[in-house]
Amino acid sequence: MPCIDGKTYLDRIDRLQSDVWINGSKVTGKISEHPAFKGAMKSQAKLYDMQYEKTCTNILTYRSPSSGQRVGATYLEPKNKKDLAKRRRAVQLWARQNAGMMGRSPDYMNTVVMTFAACADLFNDEQCSGNMRRFYEYCRENDISLTHTFIQPQVNRSSLYFENPSDAIAARVIEKNDQGIMIHGARLLATQGGMTDEILVFPTGSFHFDEDYAYAFSIPSNTPGLKFLCREPFNNGENIFDHPLSARFEEIDSIVIFDHVTVPWDRVFLHGNTEIAGKLYTESGFLPQQVHQVTSKNVVKTEFVLGVLQSLVDAINIGEYQHIQEKITEVILGLETLKALLTASEVHASIDQWGTMTPDRKPLMAAMNLYPRIYPRFIEIMQLIGASGLVSIPMEKDFQSASGADIKNYLQSSDRDGYEKVRLFRLAWDLSLSAFAGRQTLYERFFFGDPVRLAGTLYRDYDRTKFVKQVEDFLKRKD
Ligand SMILES: Cc1cc2nc3c(=O)[nH]c(=O)nc-3n(C[C@H](O)[C@H](O)[C@H](O)COP(=O)(O)OP(=O)(O)OC[C@H]3O[C@@H](n4cnc5c(N)ncnc54)[C@H](O)[C@@H]3O)c2cc1C
Repeated sequence: MPCIDGKTYLDRIDRLQSDVWINGSKVTGKISEHPAFKGAMKSQAKLYDMQYEKTCTNILTYRSPSSGQRVGATYLEPKNKKDLAKRRRAVQLWARQNAGMMGRSPDYMNTVVMTFAACADLFNDEQCSGNMRRFYEYCRENDISLTHTFIQPQVNRSSLYFENPSDAIAARVIEKNDQGIMIHGARLLATQGGMTDEILVFPTGSFHFDEDYAYAFSIPSNTPGLKFLCREPFNNGENIFDHPLSARFEEIDSIVIFDHVTVPWDRVFLHGNTEIAGKLYTESGFLPQQVHQVTSKNVVKTEFVLGVLQSLVDAINIGEYQHIQEKITEVILGLETLKALLTASEVHASIDQWGTMTPDRKPLMAAMNLYPRIYPRFIEIMQLIGASGLVSIPMEKDFQSASGADIKNYLQSSDRDGYEKVRLFRLAWDLSLSAFAGRQTLYERFFFGDPVRLAGTLYRDYDRTKFVKQVEDFLKRKD
C-alpha cells in the first residue's frame, strides 16, 4: 500500500479503540474527536495529507524498493549523501507545518525503525534480526505511526538500587511460552501514547545485568493488557487565536502499563540478551541518524522562535536598544551553529559498518548537547523581551464583548492594532509561558536523555588524543 493520507491515519487510530485513560476516565468513542487529542491528531493528519500534495510529494515520498509504491521519505535508508539531504528536506518540510513543535511527528519514529532495521544483524539472532527487518518493511509499506518507550519508571535512580523482582515496577519479561514473551509492569514515557498504530519498546540506554529487562518489541496500541495513562492535557480548547500552539500541537505524554501483555514471537526483536541490549545504542546508527532528524527539526523550530522574537521587537519598537540586539544575536548564533553542525554532519557522512550512509557523529553530538542548553535560554529571552505583554493577553471573546473597542485601542502596539498585537503576544505566551510552553522546554531539555549523561557520552566518545599530543610536542619544543 502507498503512503497514507490524513483520513486513513485518523480512521485507523479511531478503529483501534486502545485502552487510553485521561483525567480518571477511559477514552471512549473516536479518540480523534476527544478534546485532549483532537488538535494534535488533526495536525498529524495534515502531515500525512501533505504526502499527496503536488508540491510536496517528491520531497515527502520515494519509490519503495519492494512494492514500487510511493512511501514516506523518512523511511528511506540513506545509501549516499543525496539520500541524507532528501531525508533532511522531508523532515524540515513537515516541521515547518507545525513550527517544529511536534517532536514526535512520524519522521521521528520512522527514523528509529529504519535505523534498527539497517543494523538488524546486531540483534545477533536469525529470527530477531528477521523480525526487525520485516517490521521495518511493514511500517514503511503501511505508513505505520508509532509511539515508543525507552525508559523505566522514575522510582529510585540511585546507582546502588536494583529492583526487587518480586515487587516489580519496571516492565519485565515474566514468562516465555509458545505464543511469545509476556511483559508485566510499567514503562515511561510514551509521547503520543494512544495516538499511534503501535508502540515500540526498547531497553533503556543504560546497561542491564538482568536479562528480564533486556527486551525489544513492537505491538499494536490496542493489544490486550496494554494501557496508556495520560497526563493532564495542556490545551484549553480549540480556539487558535487564544491558544495558537497548544490547540494544534499538544502531544500528550503517557505512562504505559503492561498487564500480562503477550508479545508474539514475530514481534520480538530482542529477549534476554543483556550484551546486545548494551550495544543497541552504541553500535547501531541510532544516535547519528536520530540526531540528524532532530537537528533538522530544531533548525526549523529555532527559525520560528527567532521570527516570533523579532516580531515582538518590531511590535513594541525596541530594536534600537543594544541589549535587545545582543539577545536577538544570541538566537541567531544558536540557529547558525545548528545549521552549520547539520551541514557538517552531512558533508562528513560516511558508510557505516552496516552499509548505511551515516551522518558524522561529532557535530551531531555537539548539536545534541547544545540544544538542551540554548532552547531554555531562547525562551528566557522571549520572557525578557515580551515582559508584561506576555500577560496582557485578553481572549478572542473579549474583543467581541462590550470592551472590545477599548482593548483594541489600548492594547495597540507601534505597528499594529490591539487585536493583532494580542494575537502575536498570545503566540509568544504559548511559546514561553503557558503549560504547553513549559512542557516544550522540558521536552527539549530531556527528550533524548538526561543532559548530564549526554555530556558524559560526548566526553567519553570525543577523541582528544591528538590535541594532547600537540600540547606534549609543544612542551618539548626548544625554539
Ligand atoms: C516532555 C517529555 C517527553 C518525553 N517523551 C518520551 C518518549 O516519547 N519516549 C521515551 O521513551 N521517553 C520520553 N521521555 C523521557 C526521556 O527520555 C527522559 O526524561 C530522560 O531519559 C531522562 O530520564 P528521567 O526523566 O527518568 O530522569 P532521571 O533519570 O530520573 O533524572 C532525574 C535527575 O536525576 C539525575 N540523575 C539520575 N540518574 C543519574 C545518574 N546515573 N547520573 C547522574 N545524574 C543522574 C538527572 O541528571 C536528573 O537531574 C520524555 C521526557 C520528557 C520530559
